[in-house]
Amino acid sequence: MQAAYDVVIIGTGLAGLTTALRLADERRVLLVDKQLLGEGASDRAQGGIAAPLDSGDSVEAHIRDTLAAGAGLCDESATRFIVGHGVQAVHWLIEQGVAFTSDSTNPLGFHLTREGGHSCRRIFHIADSTGHAIQQTLGYKVRTHPNITLLERHMAIDLILQNGRCVGVYVQAVQSGPISAIAAGNVVLANGGAGKVYLYTTNPDSATGDGVAMPWRAGCRIANMEFIQFHPTCLYHPYAKSFLISEAVRGEGGLLKLPPSAGADAGLRFMPEHDSRAELAPRDIVARSIDFEMKRRGLDFVHLDVTHLGADFLHEHFPTISARCLEFGIDITREPIPVVPAAHYTCGGVVTDTAGHTDVPGLYAAGEVACTGFHGANRLASNSLLECVVFGQAVAAEILEHSTPPIVPVRPWDDSRVRDSDEDVVIAHNWDELRRCMWNYVGIVRTTKWLERARRRIGMLREEINEYYASFHVTRDLLELRNLVDVAALIVDSALARHESRGLHYSLDWPQTLAKAMPTIIEPRTTQRPASSSRWP
Ligand SMILES: Cc1cc2nc3c(=O)[nH]c(=O)nc-3n(C[C@H](O)[C@H](O)[C@H](O)COP(=O)(O)OP(=O)(O)OC[C@H]3O[C@@H](n4cnc5c(N)ncnc54)[C@H](O)[C@@H]3O)c2cc1C
Repeated sequence: MQAAYDVVIIGTGLAGLTTALRLADERRVLLVDKQLLGEGASDRAQGGIAAPLDSGDSVEAHIRDTLAAGAGLCDESATRFIVGHGVQAVHWLIEQGVAFTSDSTNPLGFHLTREGGHSCRRIFHIADSTGHAIQQTLGYKVRTHPNITLLERHMAIDLILQNGRCVGVYVQAVQSGPISAIAAGNVVLANGGAGKVYLYTTNPDSATGDGVAMPWRAGCRIANMEFIQFHPTCLYHPYAKSFLISEAVRGEGGLLKLPPSAGADAGLRFMPEHDSRAELAPRDIVARSIDFEMKRRGLDFVHLDVTHLGADFLHEHFPTISARCLEFGIDITREPIPVVPAAHYTCGGVVTDTAGHTDVPGLYAAGEVACTGFHGANRLASNSLLECVVFGQAVAAEILEHSTPPIVPVRPWDDSRVRDSDEDVVIAHNWDELRRCMWNYVGIVRTTKWLERARRRIGMLREEINEYYASFHVTRDLLELRNLVDVAALIVDSALARHESRGLHYSLDWPQTLAKAMPTIIEPRTTQRPASSSRWP
């Protein structure tokens, strides 16, 4: 018999877990994840979650800071909605058992930190592993709830549409197992960002933009994909996948210098040349400066030097970073850390309203996958976990307000016309080529010529990948590559459509910022798919 649920949620990050827990007392929920629960970006969040609870703070101040960071592009009503629910979101997490770091000297009882762009202390945290602690607490509740079925290591492939409504989803046991068609009253996309489209990223392996590519193929609008936030310092090492070197390292006196491959300039501090605040300039300026030096000099990385801070200080303040670097043979008390900027956060995504509706009836989105208008052209630190909780709750409330739509039988997956691939190496090569192309031509600094070059290459890759998809049995690698190439094309098209520099999008050909800020919205193309095959939504 075909599996059927009131609600299928794709993704077990903070957005997915929040949605599931809010729904589960009244609905049968299936929670699907292609990895294990706790392996998404939510688990990696170090800083914390922003909410205006402190006595010296206010909703208006938090809104002001968010709008300023968003460089004129935040949707003010979405921002008011999310920040306005911030206090309630933190209380809800506390009710679930999340133990934020306490501070007996603060009348609130909690220790709050302040991060770049926030006008006061408003970040609730759990030491320096906030995301992990929250995921552990909510994860336990999800696993023990009788109305929630958790399906780990199962990848959602595509949404199933009938008469324009989303009625289910195709799901494959990872890596290349059987494919099930699961029927659902409603489907919620909570499957995170798209950092893996770039060669260097702080994101987990799961961040392949599936939650943007799937709804786009299904007919949803996608917005603001040109706004990719880059973190300035990610460890550069062939075996260190996406290890973030916290901005606090520069805050404590870490210096950015040119590596030996810069020849006569080796060891030179370059940030003072770019900004009077040098290493303490905002994140996007530091990332852009590093990128500039790397491209200008043909460098693979730059150095972050902390040796002058002394071993005792480094071990006391940065125990995790010291230990992790040492695992890769880098003793940060004696030698500089090789770093590169890395894709960190996808500000754009599938267009939703404040109840999480997408353009397709029956399909909702919450978390990094969605473009609610909250982040505008640049995300304010610690606002994304907040958005996950507020939108997870909003989507659940909207679903609960209506009775579950009739669950209809869905077409099984049809694999009859395809065969086993005999050249899997093509997938690995295309993954690499795509990520390099995005890094080289669609990175932190862009030009129209580079973007057009990227568009041509991505077009060719896309053709090859779609042909591969149409001919062979699918695997997780192939499905992710297919999603990545769609997302890459959306980023390039969005960047080419913006004739200005704003927030995270910086073009040498369009350096000015226009007076009127407009979102970039990509309309779905009309897909020409063989109607008989269930492979095509
Ligand atoms: C290193 C790092 C530090 C950060 N620090 C902070 C911070 O301090 N504060 C803050 O507010 N934000 C922070 N962020 C951003 C924040 O963590 C994320 O934006 C947020 O956690 C996203 O949550 P999510 O639920 O939308 O997605 P995720 O937590 O990424 O979860 C998505 C899940 O969906 C699954 N998935 C994806 N595709 C599929 C598919 N096709 N089928 C099935 N499952 C799928 C993935 O495996 C994953 O488990 C940080 C991000 C990173 C990478």
